[in-house]
Amino acid sequence: MLHISELTVNWHVLEACNYDCYFCYAKYGKKSNFSRDYSEILRDLSNLSGKVINFPSGPISVQNIRINFAGGEPFLEKELGSAVSLASELGLRPSFISNGSLLTDSFIEHYGAMISVAGFSIDSFNTDTNQKIGRRDNKYKARIKILVHETGIDEIRRLVEEEWNRIKDTALNLPLEEVDRINDYFAPPTFETLDATSRSFEVKRFEDRGFATWVRANVIAHKKPGYAIANISLKPEGEAPGDITDDQMEVVADLAEKYSFDEIRATHEQNLVLPHVKLDDLYDVFLGLQEAGLATGNLGLISDMIVCPGLDYCALANARSIPVAQAISKRFADIERQYDIGELKLKISGCINACGHHHVGHIGILGVDRKGEEYYQITLGGNANENAAIGKIIGPSFAYDKIVDAVETVVNTYLEIRDSAEESFLDAYNRVGMAPFKERLYA
Ligand code: SF4
Repeated sequence: MLHISELTVNWHVLEACNYDCYFCYAKYGKKSNFSRDYSEILRDLSNLSGKVINFPSGPISVQNIRINFAGGEPFLEKELGSAVSLASELGLRPSFISNGSLLTDSFIEHYGAMISVAGFSIDSFNTDTNQKIGRRDNKYKARIKILVHETGIDEIRRLVEEEWNRIKDTALNLPLEEVDRINDYFAPPTFETLDATSRSFEVKRFEDRGFATWVRANVIAHKKPGYAIANISLKPEGEAPGDITDDQMEVVADLAEKYSFDEIRATHEQNLVLPHVKLDDLYDVFLGLQEAGLATGNLGLISDMIVCPGLDYCALANARSIPVAQAISKRFADIERQYDIGELKLKISGCINACGHHHVGHIGILGVDRKGEEYYQITLGGNANENAAIGKIIGPSFAYDKIVDAVETVVNTYLEIRDSAEESFLDAYNRVGMAPFKERLYA
């Protein structure tokens, strides 16, 4: 039997990195689903020291275990120090592999003596080369807002004009083969020639109120007579927006195969779409979705939020997004109330990077950090359609346990001030402005 003095276990504690090297699987801001249950995993690993481990290639006697914290960039993980400490206490030999940019004197002071090996990944000693490959010394440099800030808006304007003048009269030479390839890829399916209306569809809509409700919210007219576009909301009451299980995905795939030319689309609003369903088939699609818990009829309503992963998954977050969304979804669970409120785009981001598009939400919620506490800033009046607008901040931010009440106050204010049930939240806001909302919120 083989005996080894030290077995190294690489633990990729997260996928996120503060660099954006194009050749690496780890990416800036990437969501990590990796388990970080340090206590349980480190204890299990420590039990292997001095034991015989049965690998597929045969048993190996292992004297010590070295636990190597890797990533992504492991120093983005807030609990790294505690994990190193625990690993050391359990007799494991902690080490790490890092780009070194986030290593601090304080970490070395507290945990340095416990580290058995420190590995640093280096690609070049030339700063320009590092910048070119995405290995930046400032994680925010990849962002256009930082570029604009650092370069100045006038200089950016000048550079854009200069580039535009350089290219505007040049021919756009697209290789024809490539154009054909793209056209072929997006070729429309072979639609049948159908009547524009379907009697069976109308009968089912009359007979089944749930179906009628779902159709009203989630089904959109198709340009081809006799077909419809069926949106699948991934925002059931109280669940994480945009999540779907593997079993549910199988159901959607089967429905797409049978009823929608084997085509599913994912939207930026975190929903799915069956883009070409015959009206005659819509009821069967609805029943299939309903059985899988996917027939929530809330498209465009307040519970159909766009929500970023926030602090639960994102190393860059200031605050949690998903639990806030779940609480709002529960608060507005009554679907009739949602219909009464009408179209309302609520969007949540856990930090200013705005992956949840909060800045263009009719109501936007942005997670901010106030002295280590999660707070939420509300913006109103954002709009992502052809009349695009950035929402305006209403006032001081709200604590985690106050944000859902604040959203409800905003919605109730709208219901009081709208001039009719037909006036949408955004129209009412654009008519009256911020004042009445502000008064109610900070009264
Ligand atoms: S907006 Fe959300 S997902 Fe995007 S970086 Fe911030 S916390 Fe992470």
